[in-house]
Amino acid sequence: MEFNFYSPEEEINFAPITSHGVRLFMKRDDLIHPFISGNKWRKLKYNLIHASVAQKKRLVSFGGAYSNHILALAAAGAKFGFKTTAFIRGEEVSNPVLEFCKLFGMRLIFVSRDAYRDKQNCFNHYFEGDDEVFFIDEGGYGQAAAQGCREIIDELNHTYDAIFCAAGTGATAAGIINALAEKNLATKMNVISALKGDGFLKAEIDRLLVKPHTYELFSQYHFGGYAKTNAELLQFIQRFATETGVLLDPVYTGKTLFAIQDYVSNGYLEPGSKILMVHTGGLFGILGMLDRFKDLYR
Ligand SMILES: *Cc1c(COP(=O)(O)O)cnc(C)c1O
Repeated sequence: MEFNFYSPEEEINFAPITSHGVRLFMKRDDLIHPFISGNKWRKLKYNLIHASVAQKKRLVSFGGAYSNHILALAAAGAKFGFKTTAFIRGEEVSNPVLEFCKLFGMRLIFVSRDAYRDKQNCFNHYFEGDDEVFFIDEGGYGQAAAQGCREIIDELNHTYDAIFCAAGTGATAAGIINALAEKNLATKMNVISALKGDGFLKAEIDRLLVKPHTYELFSQYHFGGYAKTNAELLQFIQRFATETGVLLDPVYTGKTLFAIQDYVSNGYLEPGSKILMVHTGGLFGILGMLDRFKDLYR
C-alpha cells in the first residue's frame, strides 16, 4: 500500500487570538483527503495495514448517520481494495454523508438504537465465523488509531508551547500525548471534549497511553452536547472562515478553536508563545447543519 498525503503546518493570523501576542499554527489534516479526512485517515492507516497483512477482504465498523469515520472508511476501503460494511445507528435514513458512503460501494446496515448498543451481537448476526472480515471499532478507536495519530507530532517542523486537539473517543489525543511523552517535549497538551458528560473520556485516553503523561482535558466547550451548536459558535466559525479561508466544523474543530480563543484571552499563555491546533478535518459535519448558518445572514 502506498500512502501519499499532504498535511501542511501553517501559521494563521486571526485577530481574536493573535492580538494577544501568541502565534497560532494549524496542522492541516483537513487537507489530507476530501473524504478520508483528518484524524480519520490517521486512525485508519494502521488498521488498513493490519487488515492487509492478515489478508482480510472486508472492513466492518459502526457509526452514526453523519459519521466522519464511516465516510472515511468507505473511501479508504475503496482506495485500498477492501469491501466495506457499516452498521448505522438508528432507523434507515438518507443524507449526503450516507449517499457518499454508498457511492464508494459501502454496504449500510441500519440498526435500532437498542440493538446498536450490543455491537457484538450485531456483528455476529451478519459476520460470525467469516474470517475475511476485519473489525474496526466505532470511531476507529483503538491502539492502531493512536499509533497513526502519533505521526501528527512526528511530522511537525516547529516545537510548540501548547497543542490543542478535539476529542470524541480520545484516540487522537492519546496518540499525540504518546508522541509528546516519547519525545520528552515540554509542550502542554490540551484536549477539548466534543461531548457533554464525558466522564469516561479520560479513561479512554489513558487506556491508550504507553506511559503516563500530563495533559489537560477541557469539558466546558461542548455547547450543549455532542453535535449541538448555537448562534455564537456558528458566528465564530463564519468569522474564522471569512478572515482566514479555513473552514471549521461545528462538531469538533469549531469548538476547539473557540476554546483556544478563550484560553488565550484568559492570559494563560505568555506573549510570544506558539500554539498548534490540530485541524482534525471532518468538514462534512457541516452538511447536517448548513441550514443553521442561514439564520446568520438574515
Ligand atoms: C472524529 C473526529 C474527532 C474525534 O477524534 P477522536 O480520536 O475520536 O477523539 C475530532 N475531530 C474531528 C473533525 C473528527 O471527525
